Amino acid sequence: MSLRRLLYSTQLPFWLLLLLAFVLLGRALNARVDATRQVDSTRVEIAQVNRVMQQVVDMETGVRGYLLTADASFLEPYDAAVASLPGDLARLRAVDALEKEKGTAQEGQTERLDRITTLISRWQMEVAGPELAAARRGDRGAAVAIVRTRTGKKIIDAVRTEITAYTDAENALLSRSLRTADARLSELRTALYGLLGLALIAGIVSISAGASILSRHFEALTGAARRLSGGERGVQVREGGPAETRELAAAFNRMSEELTHATEAARTHALELEDRNRSMRQLGDLSDWMQAARSLDEGGQILARALPELLPGTRGTLLHHNASRNLLVPLVSWGGDVQRPGSPEHCWALRRGETRRPGSMPYAPPCLNGEECASVCVPLFSHGETLGILRMTPAAEGAADLDPAVDRALPGVARQVALALASLRLQDRLLQLSIRDPLTGLYNRRHLEDELALHFVNGVSGTAPVSLIALDVDHFKRLNDTFGHEAGDAALVRLAAALSDLAPAGSTPARPGGEEFALLLPGHDLASATALAETLREHVAEWTLSHAGIALGRVTVSLGVAQVDRLMTGPDALVRAADEALYAAKRAGRNRVVQAGEAPWTLPEALPAH
Ligand code: GH3
Ligand code: MG
Ligand code: MG
Repeated sequence: MSLRRLLYSTQLPFWLLLLLAFVLLGRALNARVDATRQVDSTRVEIAQVNRVMQQVVDMETGVRGYLLTADASFLEPYDAAVASLPGDLARLRAVDALEKEKGTAQEGQTERLDRITTLISRWQMEVAGPELAAARRGDRGAAVAIVRTRTGKKIIDAVRTEITAYTDAENALLSRSLRTADARLSELRTALYGLLGLALIAGIVSISAGASILSRHFEALTGAARRLSGGERGVQVREGGPAETRELAAAFNRMSEELTHATEAARTHALELEDRNRSMRQLGDLSDWMQAARSLDEGGQILARALPELLPGTRGTLLHHNASRNLLVPLVSWGGDVQRPGSPEHCWALRRGETRRPGSMPYAPPCLNGEECASVCVPLFSHGETLGILRMTPAAEGAADLDPAVDRALPGVARQVALALASLRLQDRLLQLSIRDPLTGLYNRRHLEDELALHFVNGVSGTAPVSLIALDVDHFKRLNDTFGHEAGDAALVRLAAALSDLAPAGSTPARPGGEEFALLLPGHDLASATALAETLREHVAEWTLSHAGIALGRVTVSLGVAQVDRLMTGPDALVRAADEALYAAKRAGRNRVVQAGEAPWTLPEALPAH
């Protein structure tokens, strides 16, 4: 139902009842008018009958006066009545005929009129006519004789009786008509009040019902709009009532739904932005920390802490190329992931240079670990060089895909990790270049001095013993001179390898310069360092070196061993002590080990044979 129809239908009972009231009012008015007309007509009829009666009386009185006085003037009323009586009687008949037509005529009135007319005619013919004729003739006796017959009186009495009956009947009709008119008036009043009252009640009821229907829906809409503007989402109203309120409610519901969607979208967008900002912040932090890292090892430690935060809800491993680039070696693992080193040839993500997801490369053979790859593998590139891969799976058991937020962050994280890795590898390479001796790969003098400075403190404080072995090749110049510089180099490389093999973990095998070597031994006292030096010396003494197919003969080494003591003022003192012991070994005949502070070997026979 439309709003217009509702408004019309609420008004309709009122107007219908008002119309009914007017119809009834009209009908009652008509009845009242009819009754009034009837009354007027009856009154006219009564007056007409009375007039007839008066004329009859006038005729009789005129005849009597003339008879008594013979004065012709007494006959004037008689003559006038004779002239007008037929007209009056005719009018009465016409009224009677009309009433008959309308059905309002009184019973027996026509017959009465007939009788009155007949009686008057009889009186004129039998009484008045003969009496007047006798009187005019001057025969008074004959006239009196006619009077004495009492015929005239009887006829006039009969006329009077008929007219009285006629008048009574008309009066009865008049009273009835008046009562009817009053009754109609009373009915009219009752109907009018009743209908107006009903129309008023119907109007009030229907308008209240319409207003209640409208206000119910508008109140629901207003309430919903207030809740919506107050921040509540998902507000809906019932789509009811007239067509307009239904449409309004439907439009409101659509608007509310769209607002809910827009709010949800804005919230999701804000959360994504927040996620992205956090991720950017974390990447920035990672970049700062990685720049501060001095070695791949330190970088690995930082990444081990950062990757679980950057890639939440995952577990995985960062594998990088080893120095010879024939293996992918785990650098960092998080979330309890365990990966074995594997050949980069078996990593399809690296070979194709694109991120691999489970199912994304359906034709790819088994991966690094020889199984179907169930991980997300992101190859790490920087400056055109492949550095390794980032392998990860969702931490939750059974989850197939990474969290979408992690998926979004992944390229940025991989880029940052690759950059940091490249920088650390470069740094590491530069560091190695700066601390390694290029010929032998042993640490150079600078690094030895750094390590010395680092551990010397422990030695001096007595926290841990620190010893140093100084080694020098015996008669190396001769070897050089005899077999050439290259042969000398080969001998140095071989010696360096022997020193490295023997060097315990945590020690620093170094080549400070020329054909001199050193081994810094934190945690070793003089005795254990001397034993180590002795082992080395014996080992070298057993060698039979050759280079380019030419036997180089025996090579021996002299070694000086010193331990940091409380009196030493600095690392130089330890170096000096070891060197002095070495010179002492030389002086004592070479191919021997001398401890610092020992009496120099002087017995030439103690010298081993060369
Ligand atoms: P000593 O037993 O007293 O130590 O005798 P030596 O000949 O070993 O001692 P010296 O100091 O006279 O000679 C050292 C030689 O080592 C001189 C130099 O040519 C040689 N030498 C120094 N550095 C290198 C190097 O890198 N390669 C080669 N092939 N020879 C080197
Ligand atoms: Mg020397
Ligand atoms: Mg020498």
